[in-house]
Amino acid sequence: MGSAGYDCVVVGSGPGGAGVARELARAGARVLLVERGRADPPSGRARQALRELFVPGRSLFRSGSVLVLRGVTLGGSSMYYFGSAWEPPLDVLRAHGLDLGSDVDALRTELAPAALPRELMGPRATRLLDSARALGLDWQPVPKFVDQHRLRRDGLGAFGAARWTAREFVDDAIGAGARVVTGARAERVIVRSGMACGVELRIGGRTVAVDAGRVVLAAGGLGTPVILRASGIARAGRDFFYDPVLAVSGSVDGLDAGPEPAMLAACDRLAEDGYVLTDLCRPRWLHSALTVAAGRPDRVAAYRSTLTVMVKARDVLSGRLTGRGGVDKPLTGADRSVLGRGEARARDVLRHAGARSVFAAGHVAVHPGGTAKVGDVVDTDLQTEIRGLYVCDASVIPVAWGLPPTFTVMALARRLGRHLVGVPAHPAAARG
Ligand SMILES: Cc1cc2nc3c(=O)[nH]c(=O)nc-3n(C[C@H](O)[C@H](O)[C@H](O)COP(=O)(O)OP(=O)(O)OC[C@H]3O[C@@H](n4cnc5c(N)ncnc54)[C@H](O)[C@@H]3O)c2cc1C
Repeated sequence: MGSAGYDCVVVGSGPGGAGVARELARAGARVLLVERGRADPPSGRARQALRELFVPGRSLFRSGSVLVLRGVTLGGSSMYYFGSAWEPPLDVLRAHGLDLGSDVDALRTELAPAALPRELMGPRATRLLDSARALGLDWQPVPKFVDQHRLRRDGLGAFGAARWTAREFVDDAIGAGARVVTGARAERVIVRSGMACGVELRIGGRTVAVDAGRVVLAAGGLGTPVILRASGIARAGRDFFYDPVLAVSGSVDGLDAGPEPAMLAACDRLAEDGYVLTDLCRPRWLHSALTVAAGRPDRVAAYRSTLTVMVKARDVLSGRLTGRGGVDKPLTGADRSVLGRGEARARDVLRHAGARSVFAAGHVAVHPGGTAKVGDVVDTDLQTEIRGLYVCDASVIPVAWGLPPTFTVMALARRLGRHLVGVPAHPAAARG
């Protein structure tokens, strides 16, 4: 691998990395896509989730009361996401020099995200929607990257398999000639004369150098800044967001519901109050674990009658990644007060839906980003101060966020791919 040389090495196979790799491979570039995790097919089983999403120091990090999670597997966190296709805030991004309009349109045409019709929503989601609307809240269906024909055929329990994930773009990239290596951790970018010319990988206890004309880091909001720092860009990994979440649950007599998709409808109070409220349903094993952790073992058996509202906050840009890539970002007072206001509203919705024994479970965060912001660590072409070194994942988001970021990251990837196709790699860097 070291001697082959690539036009581009892309590190990380989530929506950002898979998207760039696909664009470049389709344009005829020699692309290597490097992924730290494995390529096990998704099984939906707890054991796999524990291995890919809940390993301390690898995919799970704790800061104060907050557990921060990321998927370490081929496809990244998209293998565990809820499939919500939240529209990118185009005006906000344009104000930072990122015009994503045509890329968002193209992805919308290709993937046709759409809200599920009422008959495809689960009983928990519809109950909450009706309750919230009766209280006068603007609770609207959320567009999903999901194949509704498949969902209709196979049932709500098959939501995971009917969702778009970044593995589809990985497959497209492979089909267009890209090479993929899994179980390989990028440690640093090789830089000569101020230009990126490859990456150093750890594979099975060995260090391997790969030559490339350019490098795109897409290792996610927590992974990319670690590599940037090891490559000489020390200021990455500061003042970031993670969109903390609080789950507020109660039991409803007469409700008898199995697993169903999450975040099917939501109330967007970001502009007024800094949070989004939405329905949440977790697999039974996770419900049990989190309910015990919240000090309510008495509610574990109530899985089928449990209704949960998720409060997702837009947190203040703060904190830092530690030297070893851990998360040092406890909630600020402002974050707690946003979550507290959201919790009060969530309790209203639950009570109106007939829920009793209402309780809140601990803080979780699954949208780390803003660790290599546009206008700070990268320019509007997503290039760092090291020529030929780009970043393309949730790290580059320049503002406090609070939104599901996948659609935005996919659009950034498409835009970067188009840009790179038009810019020849520096020949000196390509030679190594
Ligand atoms: C439970 C859950 C639900 C979610 N729901 C939604 C939702 O409904 N809608 C939405 O928009 N978003 C959702 N998200 C968030 C969404 O999944 C992420 O924002 C998105 O995947 C970010 O894409 P990314 O490319 O920036 O990073 P990631 O998807 O995190 O991909 C980064 C990849 O890089 C790899 N990597 C890391 N370090 C290295 C290294 N050193 N070398 C090689 N590879 C490395 C990782 O293993 C990973 O595969 C959810 C996330 C979770 C966990």
